[in-house]
Amino acid sequence: MISLTFHGGAGEIGGNKILLEYGGARTYLDFGQSFDFGEDYFLDWLKPGAANGLECYFEFDILPKIPRLYSQAMLEFTDLPYEKPDIDGVFISHHHSDHIGNLSFIDEAIPVHLGHGTKAIIDAYSELFPGLVDIGDHDDIQTFKSGDRIPVKDLVFRPVHVEHSAPGAYGYVIEGPEGAIVYTGDFRRHGPMKSFTDEFIAEAAKARPRVLLCEGTRITSDPEAHFNTEKEIYDEVKRIMAESRGLVLAEFSMCNIDRFNSFYQAAGETGRTLVADTKYAYILDQLKELIACVPDPRRDDGLKVYFKLAKSCDFDGKDYKKIEREYFPNKITFREIRENPRKYVMFTGFNKLMELVYIHPHDADYIYSSSEFFYEGEENKDQLRVRDNWLKHFGITLHKAHCSGHAGKSDLEYAVKTINPEILIPIHTQNPEEFKKIHDDVRIVKRGDTIQI
Ligand SMILES: [Zn+2]
Ligand SMILES: [Zn+2]
Repeated sequence: MISLTFHGGAGEIGGNKILLEYGGARTYLDFGQSFDFGEDYFLDWLKPGAANGLECYFEFDILPKIPRLYSQAMLEFTDLPYEKPDIDGVFISHHHSDHIGNLSFIDEAIPVHLGHGTKAIIDAYSELFPGLVDIGDHDDIQTFKSGDRIPVKDLVFRPVHVEHSAPGAYGYVIEGPEGAIVYTGDFRRHGPMKSFTDEFIAEAAKARPRVLLCEGTRITSDPEAHFNTEKEIYDEVKRIMAESRGLVLAEFSMCNIDRFNSFYQAAGETGRTLVADTKYAYILDQLKELIACVPDPRRDDGLKVYFKLAKSCDFDGKDYKKIEREYFPNKITFREIRENPRKYVMFTGFNKLMELVYIHPHDADYIYSSSEFFYEGEENKDQLRVRDNWLKHFGITLHKAHCSGHAGKSDLEYAVKTINPEILIPIHTQNPEEFKKIHDDVRIVKRGDTIQI
């Protein structure tokens, strides 16, 4: 029998925590944090600290009380007694918090399997933003690459790379005694790494799966979307860079390497140099060995590393951390950018706007190239208002250029029809019913449900 329990990722976008009991093994597919995690009870500073255990989460029913899963330290002040874990492994699809964000709660003895790229990103983020990214302590972290076979009791997990807005993203084909199960993780096929997703879909189809767990973030597609492919983003960004009479400021997600590449290439094509801050340089540095298109921030001609004015005001090495000093040979400061703004495209974001006071841009353009989702909701309204005031103050023109990291309706339909499972279970979507239009046996699940096949 195949049993699937949805502790997260059902009836919601993200928060995937899917218990698979099959072939004598108990494993989790992802262990992510829901986007609405605790939002009814926690706000700003009113939230449990990193050292707090699970008591606050159990109090408000934010995480389920599952025996033999959580670590002893996390259970200390709860009424759920600690017992040795009975989980054979957690299989992570990619590094986004809605897939790894609750890993810090689980027992350190449970093996965690993740892609080597995912591990590199998590390590880099934990180094740069220790308060923000914390997967906790784990005694047994195992990395894999696409095509590996990982046996767990009577199952074999086969990770296959997919294209997503995160590098190092994987889906799984899981072979077992009563047939295969396929888990897509998050994916798209409208960017430069489309062939990754197509390889995954082909492998999944070959396994003739009993069950397909398919993400459906954009099953109703997105009527608001102005751009559908990464190529369209590249063209738009290049047009803005070519037409701009001043500095181009670019805001996009640090780990979206496809997007980085669109900006990096377009900057080069329009005679500009991309400027990354020291943190971004550090991330690129960690990924350059794993991803062919990532340039070396220590010596690349098309990429400069921005050093902020620090204590001594003379850009002296002693003012910067050791990991920042590594990029000193490729440094740029506000002075060069102020003198020759048309030569540069500067990576920026809300927390980096202060640099504009030194750069003093004229005729600048700002390309917002991230999901609008981050500026939705009441709590972000103030941020948006303040950002727009900064742009207005400096006379900067705002442009938007973004396409999703998730497959739209037609690509989801292509994936489902090609993989052709017996049973389809939509996950990571608010519109699971839509899948009934493309498959005959769709099982709709909500958080906490168990399905036995
Ligand atoms: Zn996700
Ligand atoms: Zn994702």
